[in-house]
Amino acid sequence: MTAQLIDGTALSRHIRAQIGERAAALAARGRRPGLAVILVGDDPASSVYVRNKVKACADHGLHSVLEKYEATLPQAALLARIEALNADPAIHGILVQMPLPRHIDPHKVIEAIATAKDVDGFSVHSAGNLMTGLPGLRPATPYGCMKLIESTGIDLKGRNAVVIGRSNTVGKPMALLLLQANATVTVCHSATPDLALHTRQADVVVAAVGRRNTLTADMVKPGAVVIDVGMNRNDEGKLCGDVDFAAVREVAGWITPVPGGVGPMTITMLLANTLQAAEGRP
Ligand code: NAP
Repeated sequence: MTAQLIDGTALSRHIRAQIGERAAALAARGRRPGLAVILVGDDPASSVYVRNKVKACADHGLHSVLEKYEATLPQAALLARIEALNADPAIHGILVQMPLPRHIDPHKVIEAIATAKDVDGFSVHSAGNLMTGLPGLRPATPYGCMKLIESTGIDLKGRNAVVIGRSNTVGKPMALLLLQANATVTVCHSATPDLALHTRQADVVVAAVGRRNTLTADMVKPGAVVIDVGMNRNDEGKLCGDVDFAAVREVAGWITPVPGGVGPMTITMLLANTLQAAEGRP
């Protein structure tokens, strides 16, 4: 069996077109959705990410501001900027690009963002909303993964889902979203002794590890949905995921490529969250 590709670029284009229409409708009523992106320091990867986020806003009719600061910016100054953006009526979403320089406590920074503007969904309040099943802004990457799974038409109810990775930004919220969709969820991590034992039972596997070839063909149940969050480089320096794509594709039923799977959906769901915040939906 050769798996069907889950095309994140196409799905992303479709969702972004809808976001553009809703943003225009909102702007016509005098409330153009606005995102503030803060970058501290000059990490090259972070610079690319923030540029892509700001460009995506411009392409879909959202207002955005990019604030760049030297790596020496004092923590108090960053917190003061967030406070000002919390009070700015033209800004509905605030994102501080991680990682931050070592002298800045990322928890303090995340908690300084008003919950209604926490478009990354990383704050304790947003995480609590997700955990308790309350509405709120969901972390963009797992939110995008859910949209990718939904696009297959497979009902998650009663399915076995395995999430590999337990970070606060991807693995844990992913597990909660799958649970909310009535899947039976197992979370694996670096101390899981036999990863394959779990993944072989899974109807859905989400790999969010950051190590290539973590999921190989012998670890996958035939017909399973495989979502590859990983972003790694192979020996030729090309972008690749956590999944041995060529081999797993011959076993799985559905699979996301890297690039062109989860990546484009992450920025798309950030736009969706900014729109949601601007619309005043919880
Ligand atoms: P992270 O914070 O480093 O977490 C990685 C997780 O993988 C940890 O929970 C770790 O377990 C687990 N792990 C490590 N080795 C393992 C192993 N051998 N078997 C099973 N689990 C193992 O990374 P992250 O932020 O969640 O990101 C994961 C990957 O997704 C990275 O490649 C990142 O670049 C990518 N990513 C992509 C997007 C996108 O838009 N495409 C967005 C976010 C992240 P412990 O907790 O036990 O250490």
